[in-house]
Amino acid sequence: MTSSSTPPPGGPDGSRAGAPDDELLDPELPGATYVLEPDVVAPLVARLVTSHAAGSHRSVLPFTGAPLAAFALSSVDDVAGAADRARSAQRRWARVPVRERADVLLRLADLVLERQSDGLDLVQMESGKSRRSAFEEIGDVAQVARHYGVRGPRYLADRRVPGMLPVLSGARVHRRPVGVVGVIAPWNYPLTLALAEALPALVAGNAVVLKPDPQTTLTALWAAELLEAAGLPEDLFLVVAGGGDVGAALTDEVDHIAFTGSTATGRKVAARAGERLIGATLELGGKNPLYVAADADVTAAARGAARACFSSTGQLCVSIERIVLHEAVADAFCEEFVPLVRGLRLGTGLDYTADVGSLTSQAQLDRVVAHVDDALSRGARVLAGGVHRSDVGPWFYAPTVLDDVPDDATCAREETFGPVVSISRVASDEEAVRVMNDSDLGLNASVWTRDVARGRRIAAEVEAGTVNINDGYAVSFGSVAAPMGGFKSSGLGRRHGREGVEAMTEAQSVVAQRGVSQGLSFDALYALGGELPSRVLTVALGAMRRLRLP
Ligand code: NAD
Repeated sequence: MTSSSTPPPGGPDGSRAGAPDDELLDPELPGATYVLEPDVVAPLVARLVTSHAAGSHRSVLPFTGAPLAAFALSSVDDVAGAADRARSAQRRWARVPVRERADVLLRLADLVLERQSDGLDLVQMESGKSRRSAFEEIGDVAQVARHYGVRGPRYLADRRVPGMLPVLSGARVHRRPVGVVGVIAPWNYPLTLALAEALPALVAGNAVVLKPDPQTTLTALWAAELLEAAGLPEDLFLVVAGGGDVGAALTDEVDHIAFTGSTATGRKVAARAGERLIGATLELGGKNPLYVAADADVTAAARGAARACFSSTGQLCVSIERIVLHEAVADAFCEEFVPLVRGLRLGTGLDYTADVGSLTSQAQLDRVVAHVDDALSRGARVLAGGVHRSDVGPWFYAPTVLDDVPDDATCAREETFGPVVSISRVASDEEAVRVMNDSDLGLNASVWTRDVARGRRIAAEVEAGTVNINDGYAVSFGSVAAPMGGFKSSGLGRRHGREGVEAMTEAQSVVAQRGVSQGLSFDALYALGGELPSRVLTVALGAMRRLRLP
């Protein structure tokens, strides 16, 4: 898919932290110069719903800051046109048997693995993450597609439930597609988040219009290409390009909006969805804690923490940004963890040589530098990292561990969304729970203990949508039969599992009254007149109570 040159070696110098944008966009910067071939970009960009009326966008290669691809943006009219096309395709799709819809997902699960090399290149080139982190997205899509391909029909099957009166009323619950689902995705997991809500939406009989972040539009278009190759009929998965204005326009056109991004933008999307009275699933930010209890396997915890803090360069909603150590194991943990972090290899390779990749943009680098500088100015100490690694690429930052971060430091409260973690110490599990819950956010948490029952007791007190025992984030995120989402300001609604597909449907209850011709209907009862109907119903309800009927 690409041509490439080998990145040169180098050491940290921290000298480019304030480099101006035009310098960062110099394609002659040291580092790998991966170039996307025009025959790769053109067919992908041709899939965009755009009339060339709304300007254009140029994405960059985070590894060097060099231009990557240019494409036209969608206008508000393009968004309305995409929603119209999707709506008419959806009417046909909803009549396709659910098993056939699920087969498309099963084929996608195979295709994403077969064609992973192209997908890995695109994800890395648009996001700057390491190949190992990019593979998490390939694996995730394969898993989610297989899950809904196998379980989707069962989740969507009609259910018989008890009617109002036994025998006389037969109730069934149907799951009807909502129609057109809008998906708004950020840049940090461009493949996973293009499809996490789209796949359950499609198996439920909806059409999808996706608005990815402009920086990661090509990966979203690759997802559309794969879905077509898997047999998805035309116009059921359309991609529009643009920023917040296009996202807002999409929210105005669809029947359900599935948003992943920051808490601040999530509030705006929720407000608009509220005005329109459409459903909204909101997957937002986290300030996720990891607790190492006194009985934990410290070596395993240190290894797990290094992965959980720095996967995807820390630009991962469920990644760990706060480590809480029981004082009995704090020193032993740090002795193992800090050298592991210092030893993480940064790199720009489209291969598996690097552990950690680049931040995705100058804005991300600025945020990370500001959080670290603020913590240091308030007395925090650096145990590892703390430097801009411009020798590797313009937006690389060393994996960083901070100690003694005061409560009023920005990074103690706000999501950094970068490779920075702070350490604190506690004297008991109860104190650990208090520290873990001391946040407005509640997306993910991790507990390390040799006693899983103790881990479950602690989890029961933790305010987070997912809790991993003896892992940082992957076992809960990868358990796609279980719902995933946020407590508090980390979101509304859930993706994955039954909840993830039910969110994309309307529940319709159809209840049939039996015995109408035999005079057993409500009308016949009320025709008795006066108090008698109430007396009959009181007797019937009493009988139901005695028989413990629901
Ligand atoms: P962001 O909120 O700035 O942007 C997310 C998306 O929303 C982008 O596509 C953007 O163009 C669009 N957008 C911006 N303004 C909009 C508006 N008014 N209406 C509609 N759409 C609008 O977030 P970001 O900085 O791109 O992403 C990082 C954030 O995403 C972090 O906070 C991270 O924790 C969160 N995130 C959450 C999850 C999760 O599953 N909970 C997963 C990944 C990322």
